[in-house]
Amino acid sequence: MSLPYEELGDSWRAARPPAAGIHLDSAACSRSSRRVMQAVARHAEYEAEVGGYIAEAAAEPFLRQMRSAIGALVGMTGDDVVFVDSATSALARLLHAWRLPPGTRVACLPGEWGINLALLVAAGLDPVLLPVDPDGRVEPERVAQVLRAQQSAMVHVTSLGSHRGVVQPAGALAEACRESCVPLVLDVAQALGHVECAVGADAVYSTARKWLTGPRGVGILAIRPSIVSRLTPVLDATWFADDLPPARRFESSEGHVAGRVGLGLALEEYLAAGPARVRGRLSGLGRLTRQLCDGVGGWRVVEPVDEPSAITTLTPPPGIDVADTRGRLLREHGILTTAAGPERAPREMTGPVLRISPHVDATEADLRTLAAALPR
Ligand SMILES: *Cc1c(COP(=O)(O)O)cnc(C)c1O
Repeated sequence: MSLPYEELGDSWRAARPPAAGIHLDSAACSRSSRRVMQAVARHAEYEAEVGGYIAEAAAEPFLRQMRSAIGALVGMTGDDVVFVDSATSALARLLHAWRLPPGTRVACLPGEWGINLALLVAAGLDPVLLPVDPDGRVEPERVAQVLRAQQSAMVHVTSLGSHRGVVQPAGALAEACRESCVPLVLDVAQALGHVECAVGADAVYSTARKWLTGPRGVGILAIRPSIVSRLTPVLDATWFADDLPPARRFESSEGHVAGRVGLGLALEEYLAAGPARVRGRLSGLGRLTRQLCDGVGGWRVVEPVDEPSAITTLTPPPGIDVADTRGRLLREHGILTTAAGPERAPREMTGPVLRISPHVDATEADLRTLAAALPR
């Protein structure tokens, strides 16, 4: 057992303040670098000096570059990308602007994120299910036929779940959706900065604070022009400059601009580290976590051991409470994890899981400490 790209782990760690304990919770909120936090603070200070809107205008050339960099990560252009406040608000904005008729069917997977299901229902839509294998992975070769039978008008899939480290075959799914002429919306909140996201979806959205290690309070929405042309913004054209890319009408005008600047720095660091190396080390960490933890004290790993993600989920042995265990690991060992209840994926989960989500700065020693602390 050994981890790939140890030097990447070392430089990632050196760029951040020392962790108070063992941080294995990047799927909830990761550790930003000092440069990111300094950029956020510097922009906030600049707002106080020159005024918030002057500071924002000054940051716009950098933000434009960042929209392009994000576009490249999701297979779109900078003009397709807008900043919002969170992944949740990205989907809410998209659904509101799409204005699908009540009762419209939207095809999802059983592992769909609970909040997304709630937003779909709140928008008057009817989430129906696509076929999956026993791991909860979509079966792309069956998608076209099922979509036809369902008459779904949209496919909405979370390409990597919060509750399970299974990576969906998003590229093959996108192809099936394209052949069926049904638009694909991808939730890449756990996937961006983690697994490949330039897969050919029609709209994607994410959050800054997870695998990209940006600040909290910043989200990203990217929409292809063919979809933008079908959307209705709340405000009419008189509110927008004529030369503004059409997607920009869906950017939140008020926002944590300093955080958007911070995300830009985080993106630069991620690109400099090399997405392929980050992916490789995250996969290695996931594999090692699963190898070290499966069966320990009766805890069982949910996902296949070689799943190429850093998210591992563990089901508890009989009589052991997941939330208590999460609390005990933190209190007694300084190990930060997540207790994830079934509300996170109500159509797939049958009980709570303990989620382990190390970023590239985690070490084999960290994971061995976790495995040793897991049994009561
Ligand atoms: C965290 C998460 C979200 C929500 O992101 P916010 O930025 O908190 O709104 C959505 N989908 C998945 C899969 C997530 O893990």
